[in-house]
Amino acid sequence: MSGFSENEGTRQKYKLNVGKIDEGFVIDHIRPGRGLMLYHDMGLDKLDCSVAIIQNASSRKMGKKDIIKVETSIDNLNMDIISLLDHNATVDVIKNGEIISKPELPLPKEVKNIIRCKNPRCIASIEQGIDNIFVLTDVKTATYRCKYCETEYENK
Ligand SMILES: [Zn+2]
Repeated sequence: MSGFSENEGTRQKYKLNVGKIDEGFVIDHIRPGRGLMLYHDMGLDKLDCSVAIIQNASSRKMGKKDIIKVETSIDNLNMDIISLLDHNATVDVIKNGEIISKPELPLPKEVKNIIRCKNPRCIASIEQGIDNIFVLTDVKTATYRCKYCETEYENK
């Protein structure tokens, strides 16, 4: 969206910040443009709760970032794959309108059918019915590689 006057831009920003949630979680510091992908890959589209995806929010640290706010019981939070999808993303857990924790995000050792191999010659891309399996090959850099062809998944 372009063509906003300074005033309208400020007003819009204010409106977005008001979207406070009572209980749920905020996935912050998502690489810009990746919010929608996380939304789908985390299965948030299948939850029956309100979800806000904010794209290109301004960030002092990152310039721009995406944010996802999910209003749901915090028991529904599946954090297992967030770092896999975007290594820099963070999570705030919200209860009674306050941030109650910023949990460390686990790195699963292996994931099945969450992300797909981008190598067109990989057996997982060619053959029908083969699971897309990615394996954590470096904990420090959160590097995941396809189990079959070792293509790295781009999550940074
Ligand atoms: Zn592959």
